[in-house]
Amino acid sequence: MFEMPSEFLEEMKKILGEDYDLYEKCMEKEAFRGIALNRLKVKDVNILPFDVEKCPFYKDGYYISCDEKGVGNTPLHHAGAFYVQEPSAMSAVSLLDVQEGEKVLDLCAAPGGKSAQIASCLNGTGLIWSNEVVKNRAQILLSNFERMGISKGVVSSCYPDVLCRKLEGYFDKVLVDAPCSGEGMFRKNPEAVKEWSREHVLSCAERQLSILKSAAHAVKNGGELVYSTCTFSYEENEGVIRRFLEENADFEMCDIGEHFGRKTELPCAVRITPLEKGEGHFAAKLRKKGESVSERPCIEKSADIPKELEDIFYEVPKGRYVLNGDKLYIVPNGLPDIKGLGVIRAGVLAGEFVKKRFEPSHALFMSAKTENVKRVLELDDENIKEFLKGMEIDSDCENGYTAVSYKGIITGYGKTSNRRLKNKYPKGLRLK
Ligand code: SAM
Repeated sequence: MFEMPSEFLEEMKKILGEDYDLYEKCMEKEAFRGIALNRLKVKDVNILPFDVEKCPFYKDGYYISCDEKGVGNTPLHHAGAFYVQEPSAMSAVSLLDVQEGEKVLDLCAAPGGKSAQIASCLNGTGLIWSNEVVKNRAQILLSNFERMGISKGVVSSCYPDVLCRKLEGYFDKVLVDAPCSGEGMFRKNPEAVKEWSREHVLSCAERQLSILKSAAHAVKNGGELVYSTCTFSYEENEGVIRRFLEENADFEMCDIGEHFGRKTELPCAVRITPLEKGEGHFAAKLRKKGESVSERPCIEKSADIPKELEDIFYEVPKGRYVLNGDKLYIVPNGLPDIKGLGVIRAGVLAGEFVKKRFEPSHALFMSAKTENVKRVLELDDENIKEFLKGMEIDSDCENGYTAVSYKGIITGYGKTSNRRLKNKYPKGLRLK
């Protein structure tokens, strides 16, 4: 076994009791790996080109083998059919129990695994607002939003307290997947072992409490707040929840009942360790007392819809069309005022006016379904790789913007001209 800090192991003995020896043995094995299916793009797990085994932590979560290499380079990954995610990390969204039509905030969202799950559960309804305070991580989040084809969403990079006070009582559900000491990452990321110290654990707990207190503002009365970490320590988990409840009498614990994972001293919380077949997660669910308040009105008018979109779609995507400079966005209806909230994307970038001509975007096609697009070029295993490398390929479609699909999932687009497809797959995403 690789070396873990003795102080950490002493804490684990307290948490695991008589199971501790099993934990030590378990840590000699390889880390668990998993994928979460994206329901915005696929309906059937059998479409995947590798073996999977159902995991207990999420309805669309699966284990994949440690030997499965290059999963992130498969065409279906490019297509946004699934998100590679550590299995126990999927548990927090299960506790959140997202229902269609809800407005959900993911406050610490990058790189976006849990946001992808939330969007999948929303199934193209409601709203997912994903925030990431670290700017360059927020860009990775945006890129994953586009890959997963999320259209009813907002990506922002804002301080939690600023965001949540401005959006007071706006969300049905809020997830705080807090930065933590990463004790559940030890097998996956040996750096986490080096960075571990008791002082770090205690300073993480202070930061987590502060983020959770900010998050509380954004929850509507009667709404729910899920707190999660990928660490085991009492201070960062049960301790944070207890301290939060002492200071926030308007919140109460939700009894999560019989669930996966390991019981904790709190009826509202669950802990998953490698003994439960996950690398490590803690999740707790709280409810804000009281009745819900009325919704905020939307404040911007719709811009004109360019005729080029009517040439691409049978029915142009729904939403409010908003022009910002040369860029046109399709913004979900009913958004609050987003000024001052570090919003880097609201809805979908539909495209850009270049010399008065409208050029559609990659994200627009990624969020579309084949049945709504007039020209679709379905590619086989060979051709899709060429497309993902940025090469020009044959097209039997009529001239015009053409969705490229693989196994029925839109994976990008190009422009057909005289039976050739000019490739529009973004350079930064291309296969090497
Ligand atoms: N939920 C993400 C997912 O499923 O992909 C993982 C989130 S990660 C555990 C925690 C995130 O919190 C990191 O992206 C980190 O940059 C961010 N973070 C760091 N300090 C923060 C702070 N003071 N307030 C809010 N978020 C912070």
